[in-house]
Amino acid sequence: MFPTPFTYHRAASVADALQLLQQYGDSGKILAGGHSLLPVMKLRFAQPEHIIDITGIDELRAITITDDAVTIGALVTHHELATNPEIAVTVPLLGQMARVVGDQQVRNMGTIGGALAHADPAADYPAGMLALDATVIATGPSGTRDIPIGEFFQGFLTTALEPDEVLTAVRVPAPPSGASCAYEKLPNPASGYATVGVAVVASRASDGTLATLRIGITGSSDVAYRAHDVENALIGTAPDADSIRAAAATATDGVEMLADKHAPAAYRARVTRNLTRRAIERALA
Ligand SMILES: Cc1cc2nc3c(=O)[nH]c(=O)nc-3n(C[C@H](O)[C@H](O)[C@H](O)COP(=O)(O)OP(=O)(O)OC[C@H]3O[C@@H](n4cnc5c(N)ncnc54)[C@H](O)[C@@H]3O)c2cc1C
Repeated sequence: MFPTPFTYHRAASVADALQLLQQYGDSGKILAGGHSLLPVMKLRFAQPEHIIDITGIDELRAITITDDAVTIGALVTHHELATNPEIAVTVPLLGQMARVVGDQQVRNMGTIGGALAHADPAADYPAGMLALDATVIATGPSGTRDIPIGEFFQGFLTTALEPDEVLTAVRVPAPPSGASCAYEKLPNPASGYATVGVAVVASRASDGTLATLRIGITGSSDVAYRAHDVENALIGTAPDADSIRAAAATATDGVEMLADKHAPAAYRARVTRNLTRRAIERALA
């Protein structure tokens, strides 16, 4: 199916994109890699009259690494994150996730900003961003604001971004000293999207007990979430196989599981608990 007709605009700067968003209001839509927007336009789930292409804004392609944080511009592609040697050292979880997004074509075109702004419940990054305790940076008519990742994903394809804001970057704090990470995913065999994906960031205190454990889960419900019950059960303990298994069994407590033809709710819940256990074990191994 073809999209409904639209007018194409190429923004030269963030200010230009903001001005176009203001001018066209609800009928305007930002275009980044196009690998989520164009499919929904072809299906006519979205029918924007004005497309605002931001891919010419070079400042949105920057990756800035300091002692405290890595700041990734909205237009950084999945391929760049998958292959960047500095990302592999500073935030290896990002590279791990980027490498399992879709296929090479999707990774070449798709951007981290587009993936976060789209908030697909089966997207990979939301799990990792929750585990990394990231902050989304958005710029709108009244300036730039930080959105803690815990407040960013609000529901099915819904985020805290305002319609007149551009997601300009995401800031990932440096993981705690000695931290390790893991991402476990059951991909949909056709699309590669996460039927379930579980990301873990963990660190130990000098006595071997768990000092940090952050677990982000995607694919299981209509919005990615932190598995706080699992984290709280294990932080401060020296976990073994039994305690990890028992804690991971609570990963779906109180969460309404998605159900579709690929994975009924009970199956998804079981996969979520198993991948949570595996991701914790792998991060701690
Ligand atoms: C075949 C296929 C397989 C895929 N498999 C996976 C997978 O395994 N895992 C996974 O996580 N994803 C997967 N994806 C999705 C892919 O990662 C997309 O690239 C990504 O979700 C959207 O990024 P984009 O740059 O293409 O955004 P676009 O499609 O251009 O935009 C998506 C949405 O975000 C908005 N937007 C984009 N950038 C910004 C911005 N900077 N500020 C504000 N709003 C913005 C747009 O207006 C639009 O609403 C797959 C896609 C396809 C087509």
